[in-house]
Amino acid sequence: MEQSDLITELQDLDIELMRARKRLDEMPEKAAILTMRRRIAEIEALLSRARQAHDAVDARVRRLEDETTLLEQKMDAEQAKLMSGEVTNPKEVANISRELDGLRRQKEKLEGDTLAEMEKREKAAEQAGKVEAAVEEGRRRDGVLVKDFQDKGGGLTAEIARLEARRAAVAASLEPDLLGQYERLRGSKHGIGLGVLHDTTCTACRVELPSNEIEALRGGPPIGVCPACHRLIVVTPKETA
Ligand SMILES: [Zn+2]
Repeated sequence: MEQSDLITELQDLDIELMRARKRLDEMPEKAAILTMRRRIAEIEALLSRARQAHDAVDARVRRLEDETTLLEQKMDAEQAKLMSGEVTNPKEVANISRELDGLRRQKEKLEGDTLAEMEKREKAAEQAGKVEAAVEEGRRRDGVLVKDFQDKGGGLTAEIARLEARRAAVAASLEPDLLGQYERLRGSKHGIGLGVLHDTTCTACRVELPSNEIEALRGGPPIGVCPACHRLIVVTPKETA
């Protein structure tokens, strides 16, 4: 196969691929998946905040429990002093008793605070659990949508795979320099890197070329450059045009 035929086929394949990918992109099932993914991301952000809130209150509960333990140790020590029989001075005994009463009140206050925080922790855990379930439900529905998309877009996906395989084969048969030039033009010119000289017009830019330029193209190599759009142009011999 001539290079000019190969590159024309490559261009045709690229256009077909663009159309097929666009059709796949525009499937309502795909839009539904994107919407669902955004929703899941939002719920995941909520989940992260809910877990942070739970961890913060959990840390407060632990701190209060630690404080209570310290207080209990202090009370035990005071109690032991009283029971040891070493303290006999009534004034000192009264002091220790007062100290113990104070500690007991502090402990009651701490226990009340701990209980309140534990209730908050329970609610935070419940909230995180609900959001977690919502994330799971979102993922489940996403799975259903993906399956639906695959079922309905399966034919299109297979067609794209077939076109891609054919494109790879054609590209491999093209001279690397020509392929590179085509790819660069395709990248910079909205996916169209090649025109064909049809009568007096470039099929890519649809500009009617002046006769001297057409003569120059026809006198040159089978693949030239369009003077109007600077894409590659396949110069079709006059007799077969
Ligand atoms: Zn052109």
